[in-house]
Amino acid sequence: MMAPSALSQVPVAVPIHTDTSSLPRSLFKSNNVSFHNKLWTPGLYLDSKITNSRLRNRFVVCMSVQQVSKPKVGVSPLSLEDAKEPPLHLYKNKEPYTATIVSVERLVGPKAPGETCHIVIDHGGNVPYWEGQSYGVIPPGENPKKPGSPHNVRLYSIASTRYGDSFDGKTASLCVRRAVYYDPETGKEDPSKNGVCSNFLCDSKPGDKVQITGPSGKIMLLPEDNPNATHIMIATGTGVAPFRGYLRRMFMESVPTFKFGGLAWLFLGVANGDSLLYDEEFSKYLREYPDNFRLLDGGAHIYFCGLKGMMPGIQDTLKKVAEQRGESWDEKLSQLKKSKQWHVEVY
Ligand code: FAD
Repeated sequence: MMAPSALSQVPVAVPIHTDTSSLPRSLFKSNNVSFHNKLWTPGLYLDSKITNSRLRNRFVVCMSVQQVSKPKVGVSPLSLEDAKEPPLHLYKNKEPYTATIVSVERLVGPKAPGETCHIVIDHGGNVPYWEGQSYGVIPPGENPKKPGSPHNVRLYSIASTRYGDSFDGKTASLCVRRAVYYDPETGKEDPSKNGVCSNFLCDSKPGDKVQITGPSGKIMLLPEDNPNATHIMIATGTGVAPFRGYLRRMFMESVPTFKFGGLAWLFLGVANGDSLLYDEEFSKYLREYPDNFRLLDGGAHIYFCGLKGMMPGIQDTLKKVAEQRGESWDEKLSQLKKSKQWHVEVY
């Protein structure tokens, strides 16, 4: 599938799995990308005519998007645009902000294993953030390990831009996977051991209150000093959250202070029971398309977000690619870190 109007502007078509039923529906729709039914950029390839059989039937999607001249959503710039540093720890664990749930939407299709929800939270403009930061959530109830105390805070990457899904700077969106526990012996769900916070969030209803902390994190901030930079984003599951924020800022919103003219690549490992498969997949892509990683030499930024298990395989592969080029990966990595091109947030 491809978007005809943007054909000449998108440089690379990349293989993906053809079954899109488990993709987050608010991220990908038919051959366009839409959010809450608003088309925001046509520059997307979902290439279903893959000739390489080894790459067919794999649960990895890749999109490459370049700026196209389409009308964008106008936003009234927030004072956040002028700040030199991101907001940090405005609300701490002992004094969280009480926000309100606006909506909870199931993101995945019926065949996806497990459930992932898109949750919009109204913070009234009181807990501003930059793209790539996280909120903490303190679920209601008592910490079973410390009777009388609240639960520990859980971190969630923010999946919206600083303007939020309603473009007014008053909401933040989270992409939350419901943690369900299955008894290894019976294979049956044991609700007493289900994840506390993710279930609280996915079960919440509009109007419910939620205790939030933060924002936190500087590693995954979107560098904006060069608006023509290349950004390579690699995600597993809910690791796509910060990238949704980036892509909206790059391609959907008309922000006077950031006119993106670069290139964005997104590799997304979608829901699958065996997380290490993603690791293999990403390593495969890196092996089979090593030239893409010459982009790093040209100053491209690379981001990894999602499951911890994705990193060792990726690092091994990058090491092999570097060796093939007669380079030392350790040196290359420390260079990338020094020049702030390497961004990792895995959990
Ligand atoms: P918990 O109650 O903390 O339980 C953790 C796990 O233990 C669950 O799988 C639960 O089923 C299991 N468990 C509970 N009791 C038992 C028992 N007795 N025996 C065995 N197992 C048990 N998550 C997202 O979904 N989206 C994000 O965008 C996101 N971003 C993150 C960003 C960062 C920087 C970090 C560090 C984490 C992020 N996470 C994200 C993970 C998130 O913080 C939580 O860890 C996750 O939601 C699980 O929390 P929970 O309260 O639901 O589960």
